Amino acid sequence: MTLRLNDITVTLGSGESRTTALHGLTTTFQPGALTALVGPSGSGKSTLLAVAGALLRPDEGQVVLGETDLASLTDRERARTRRTRIGYMFQSGNLLAGLTAEEQLLAAASLAGGRPRAVRDQARELLADVGLAHRLRHRPDQLSGGERQRVALARALLTRPELLLVDEPTAAVDRTRAGDLTGLIARTTHQHGCVTVVATHDPVVIEAADTTIDMLDHATATTG
Ligand code: ADP
Ligand code: MG
Repeated sequence: MTLRLNDITVTLGSGESRTTALHGLTTTFQPGALTALVGPSGSGKSTLLAVAGALLRPDEGQVVLGETDLASLTDRERARTRRTRIGYMFQSGNLLAGLTAEEQLLAAASLAGGRPRAVRDQARELLADVGLAHRLRHRPDQLSGGERQRVALARALLTRPELLLVDEPTAAVDRTRAGDLTGLIARTTHQHGCVTVVATHDPVVIEAADTTIDMLDHATATTG
């Protein structure tokens, strides 16, 4: 399954804060490849991830996931696509308040159609993989920002998404952990064959990526 973005334009805000975050962006992401999305702060990396992840509808252009044009889906179908086909590791973590780290994973697996019992071992294994074996019973408000983000990564990997979207995974962790997380993301991408897009400034991530897309090249290459 490939991810195609075709002539995407996104305008955010209104009045004086109105900003064209993406302007006529066209690109294709390949399965089994880790793509690093680079570019200065404000160049539209997070916006691209939100559009690709069916969290934000573009003003213009198409997002095509395999054979599915996301614009042709109803809100309900888009929500289902997010639960079953897409994994997110965003900086906010997007965790559910009140659930422990382990429960975050079990809830996601259940929403995606899996049986919680069958996935409990796998959930613990993934939490150990992201360095949180000792945090299974912690709730989001008891975790650091970097830990919350790692729970989100473990949760994303548990549902075996076709598309994995990651926003600055190594910004809030030490260098050793940055290497471990990057390795985990790269291995998962190659083993599962998912399309992985990682917004990053980190040389460790860029080095591990199969392809790099510079938002600034796109801004100039695709206007007009
Ligand atoms: P990056 O992730 O590369 O730092 P973003 O995708 O977050 O960039 O933002 C792209 C541009 O859109 C920036 O100039 C940012 O200021 C602007 N922007 C982001 N969110 C909003 C919003 N809600 N309203 C207006 N402008 C926004
Ligand atoms: Mg960003």
